[in-house]
Amino acid sequence: MLRWLRSLREKPADDPGRPIPEALWQATLHAYPFLSRHGAGSLGALRKLTGQFLRQKEFHGAGGLLITDPMAVAIAAQACLPVLAIAGARRGLAWYDDFVGIVVHPGAVLAARESMDDAGVVHAWHEELSGEAMQDGPVTLSWEDVAQAGRTAGEGYNVVIHEFVHKIDMRDGAADACPPLPRGFMGAASPAQARKNWLANLQAHYLDHCDKISMAERFGGPPVWMDTYAAVSIDEFFAVASEAYFVSPVQFSRDFAGLVPMFDAFFGAVTPAG
Ligand SMILES: [Zn+2]
Repeated sequence: MLRWLRSLREKPADDPGRPIPEALWQATLHAYPFLSRHGAGSLGALRKLTGQFLRQKEFHGAGGLLITDPMAVAIAAQACLPVLAIAGARRGLAWYDDFVGIVVHPGAVLAARESMDDAGVVHAWHEELSGEAMQDGPVTLSWEDVAQAGRTAGEGYNVVIHEFVHKIDMRDGAADACPPLPRGFMGAASPAQARKNWLANLQAHYLDHCDKISMAERFGGPPVWMDTYAAVSIDEFFAVASEAYFVSPVQFSRDFAGLVPMFDAFFGAVTPAG
């Protein structure tokens, strides 16, 4: 942790403190160009929210990794993007107030897994992850994946947005692909109806994505643009589709036009510029 971030930590959490230094902010925008696709006004709001995020959260480097100011700002800015203009009663960083810690590993995260099969035999293994979000717990990220986010945006890939969208999804319980929706969302008469409409639309696109992956992999169909990891489950589809929506909006709107109005209504409409 370097000088600027340490100076923030020494102040009370509600102290507005010094803004993110100009050179550091500009370097972040240069390294992660998708952050700038939201217009100058909201870019100022993103910078402010990123500063608040850095004052509220604690970064931990795992495996001897030193968290520098540029690393912390890069993660914070990407984490703030989904909640910058989000609709509903809960606003901004209130979406993330169930946790404080962000654990950053140098590379892929090895997570211990265990399951019992039908015969009662327990199997244990390690899964290699680029990140993980725990309900009411910390977010874990692979710095190797975060650092590549500028280059991989064209593929719709972004590990920070993926994990933080899981956190948004989990604000009303386990990850189920439907975040808590604002009252009257898209004209729904009741919260149950809003949730039903959301899941029906997402499910249709999820199944279509799974079909296209099968066609591509088994029957020589056209290659699928968005990450095939989205086929794992509908909550993973929501996280992966949200990554693509934020970092590659033009391609996303070509492949998932039916999701754009719903995501615009929830995340707050943005004006894609490329
Ligand atoms: Zn995931």
